[in-house]
Amino acid sequence: MSVHDPNCIFCKIIAGQIPSRKVYEDDELFAFHDIDPWAPVHFLIIPKRHIASMSHLTTADEGWMGRLMVLAPRLALEQGCNPYPEGGFRMVCNTGAEGRQEVQHLHWHVMGGPRPWARG
Ligand code: AMP
Ligand code: ZN
Repeated sequence: MSVHDPNCIFCKIIAGQIPSRKVYEDDELFAFHDIDPWAPVHFLIIPKRHIASMSHLTTADEGWMGRLMVLAPRLALEQGCNPYPEGGFRMVCNTGAEGRQEVQHLHWHVMGGPRPWARG
């Protein structure tokens, strides 16, 4: 699988070819605000390498995937989610057609903030 897919909207966001509101970036991970938020806080965390979905992960991905999970609660607080347990956040990773995945570049939704939310 190639590192970047020239037809992928999230690869274009990582490359700066499509504008985004960046939340975080390191060598392997990129986070940016969702363009159609469901909640007061709604951002996406993605691997910089083009990986189509969670179904494509192998044991070689355990490192950055673990880092992504540990990074998420830190970014959630930084972006305005309230602390656990009264606050918290929701993480969703839609996978495949029946999982309602629309963009075919693996992404974790992180949603939080005071209720009510627009959706979810
Ligand atoms: P899904 O594939 O259904 O898990 O969701 C894809 C998400 O990507 C949706 O919540 C969209 O609002 C979001 N999205 C699509 N295009 C952009 C973009 N250019 N910038 C930020 N978020 C986007
Ligand atoms: Zn991509």
